[in-house]
Amino acid sequence: AYLERIQALEPTLHSFLTVTGDRALEQAAAVDRQIAAGETIGLLSGIPLAIKDNLCTYGVRTTCASKMLADFVPPYESTVTAKLHQAGAVMLGKTNLDEFAMGSSTENSAFGLTANPWNVECVPGGSSGGSAAAVAAGECAAALGSDTGGSIRQPASFCGVVGLKPTYGLVSRYGLVAYASSLDQIGPLAPTVTDAAILLGAIAGHDPRDATSLKVPVPDYTQALRPDLKGLRVGVIQETVSEGLQPEVKTAIEAALQTLKELGATLKELSCPRFAYGLPTYYIIAPSEASANLARYDGVNFGFRVEGAADLLEMYTQTRAQGFGAEVKRRIMIGTYALSAGYYDAYYLRAQKVRTLIKEDFANAFEQVDVLICPTSPTTAFKAGEKTADPLSMYLSDLMTIPINLAGLPGLSLPCGFDATGLPIGLQLIGNVLQEETLFRVAYAYE
Ligand code: GLN
Repeated sequence: AYLERIQALEPTLHSFLTVTGDRALEQAAAVDRQIAAGETIGLLSGIPLAIKDNLCTYGVRTTCASKMLADFVPPYESTVTAKLHQAGAVMLGKTNLDEFAMGSSTENSAFGLTANPWNVECVPGGSSGGSAAAVAAGECAAALGSDTGGSIRQPASFCGVVGLKPTYGLVSRYGLVAYASSLDQIGPLAPTVTDAAILLGAIAGHDPRDATSLKVPVPDYTQALRPDLKGLRVGVIQETVSEGLQPEVKTAIEAALQTLKELGATLKELSCPRFAYGLPTYYIIAPSEASANLARYDGVNFGFRVEGAADLLEMYTQTRAQGFGAEVKRRIMIGTYALSAGYYDAYYLRAQKVRTLIKEDFANAFEQVDVLICPTSPTTAFKAGEKTADPLSMYLSDLMTIPINLAGLPGLSLPCGFDATGLPIGLQLIGNVLQEETLFRVAYAYE
């Protein structure tokens, strides 16, 4: 049924870069055989999922939506997809994204746009736009995305689904193509909070193959799903609700706060004075790390290589000039500049110091409350093409999600209403380190 739906909707949506239909049917048939033989089946047995195309899948093309990796077939499997496979899940295919996860609209894909299922003239958000659109349109039961500065939560918000960026280190990134390693995390996009909780439980946990992976037990997140919020202290970040919001977003957030109060939570207005410095800080740190991570695409080890270069240097430069898109090049240049000897102290080092201050703001806030609330994005989904000429206005759509990555905290976006044109609005819940259960509890009670 899902494959039929994909076939019917893909000409309009283009959520997928690769559909692995035959493989999915084989996996599903194997589950049928297990059931017929009376064997116990896995938690996710037969559940059809979509996977963002920056997660390596053995034998299945993994492009990062880049010409550079257009024909790259990984010789290994990422830890998260291996875990899903072990739990019995069926992979329907690989979803579209901004090239190397750099973007907020999926318009930076080298392989074309993905449409927002709620209004096909609008973007689905990004960079996990393909995963969010696929979930919203019912092309899969749930999906995986990655989030470096908002790439799970912002598309979840634009497409009206639930999206979670876990605590840094909770989910292994082994086999995730690196963008900015001190920020990247993998997480679920799903139609409901319960689905997201089940999926996180399936992919979380320590992995010796990711040096940043935390050695902590993985709880059964579904145990946290209770319908009331008695005794829960909710903080509202003042800096995020005061100005610059689309009026309907502001109204929806205020209504959501009222609902949380009725469910038994106590509300407190809080200040995170350095929250707004997240965006400029991120656009030094993330490109710096990206410039180092993307140095490996030199035409030798992976993917694309130009034909007919006169010498080695020309082969490198031409491969990178032709293989990368404009946004990726922009970030490599920003990062290389920020890390260069004469500017390191003024940019990179300063950004790292501001990052520490942002973390302190959150630490102070979590001495007073259990969960923080703000909009996921200042606006609802925008029209395709509207922001492509102005990178700065595009970057602004992650204003509210980026500080959470800088602090390594978990953040969850869930639908909280619609604007006048019928586009979904997202509410963001922010938790302290490893407080995913609190986020699920609040989200479940609200949902
Ligand atoms: N939109 C942000 C960026 O362009 C975040 C991307 C992400 O989280 N991967 O970098």
